[in-house]
Amino acid sequence: MAENTEAPLPDKEKNFSEWYNEIVQRAELVDLRYGVKGFVVYRPNVANILRQTYRLFEDALDAHGHSVCNFPVVIPLEFFQKEAEHIKGFSGEVFWITRAGDTELERPLVLRPTSETAMYPLYAYWVRSYRDLPLKLYQSNTVYRYETKATKPLIRGREFYWIEAHDVHRTVEDAVNQVREDMEITIDVLHNQLGIPFMLMERPPWDRFAGADRSYAFDVLFPDKNVLQIATTHLLGENFSRAFEIMFEDEDGTKKYCQQTCFGIGISRIAATIISMHGDNYGLVLPFHVAPLQIVIVPIPKKGKNELVMEKCEEVHQKLKDKGYRVKLDDSEDRPGAKFYHWELLCVPIRLEIGPRDIENGVITVFRRDKRERFQVKENQLEETIEQLKNDILKELRTRREKDLRENIREAKSREEFLEIAKNKGGFIRIEFCDREECAEVIKEETGGYEVRGKRFGVEEKPKGNCVICGEKAKSIVYVAKAY
Ligand SMILES: [Zn+2]
Repeated sequence: MAENTEAPLPDKEKNFSEWYNEIVQRAELVDLRYGVKGFVVYRPNVANILRQTYRLFEDALDAHGHSVCNFPVVIPLEFFQKEAEHIKGFSGEVFWITRAGDTELERPLVLRPTSETAMYPLYAYWVRSYRDLPLKLYQSNTVYRYETKATKPLIRGREFYWIEAHDVHRTVEDAVNQVREDMEITIDVLHNQLGIPFMLMERPPWDRFAGADRSYAFDVLFPDKNVLQIATTHLLGENFSRAFEIMFEDEDGTKKYCQQTCFGIGISRIAATIISMHGDNYGLVLPFHVAPLQIVIVPIPKKGKNELVMEKCEEVHQKLKDKGYRVKLDDSEDRPGAKFYHWELLCVPIRLEIGPRDIENGVITVFRRDKRERFQVKENQLEETIEQLKNDILKELRTRREKDLRENIREAKSREEFLEIAKNKGGFIRIEFCDREECAEVIKEETGGYEVRGKRFGVEEKPKGNCVICGEKAKSIVYVAKAY
């Protein structure tokens, strides 16, 4: 607790960037003294959030028939160069290993920026017949990209934590269904377990993943009204299976190219989203599911009664532990006020306070971090209350964030209106659009970096008028935002 100063955090709504920089240090999430740009040390307080986030998605992938695997972090040059679009998209941002010991390597190695070209040469050996399909593998790993934009802990780095799933299917229809399943997994975890609202977009052709036929992305809105892409799923078609000769013999004996999909879940970015969206001026606010520590018990000491208090605390602690909650009894020497401050900063969603008077009355004092509300419950109703709170907290967080998102989607009917919103408000701007990249370029130039994030997936929206940028007949409704 030594580094806690008990001074208030900068106001999140007014100055998000300052708030974020402060909280990642104050809550001991990261240490920036490592000294290599874009490479960050993640300390236990955030490594635990990353681990819980990994688990939510890994459990979901397992439940949907994926198997886990691990491929090497280095990719041989000849693998990396096989798919033309892919190398075009990534070559500028890869780290190369050209030397080992005193020797210049004859074949330089790429530090994986993503693993298509590591995995697919092996897929060509593994897939022989339609009986081998579908092949659904994922790995939880780190990838490396030489980012030239400004880096920010968890949000944009040169090393990031993610899950990548790479699936091989027999038919186009199966691949399309796979992309839907990837979306459902993401929606379930984000919405039902983390309370994170999002915009599910189909990216415009010029912004697709290098080598994909279609790219779909989950964009979230940050408190500073910029957006962040946190998960993507791509229909790769036969682009990679042709390059890597991943073929199967179908039931009728004909040889066919496989249909592939890949799915990236940005674990470090999702952790950044949880911290940024739900956090407040007292510190982190975590949904119960992902909180490394879900319940903390703080004894309220009183001269002559301390033994009695500790006994009760230990009893409650053991009972909740047996029920499978991640619970801690804070029996350190600090005064209760310091403990409250510390656990609010780190966000333990539920705090229990037990003092002599509570014991006398057969009650426990409960504090819920999200609303910062304190109330008492009968001891025999504690577990019921926790189960109820677990859902209430999530609902509360989700409701707040959905309101933020709703209020920050604005429609612009003219170029002037569009520029005015971009300049003064931010968030998502809904416009009628001609679908031409030239107009997307104009947007970028005139707004200092706003991008066409795409069409909303699964929502039928038909344009009625003209492109707000060029005035030609609009072909679609798109959403424009400034991204990290
Ligand atoms: Zn246009």
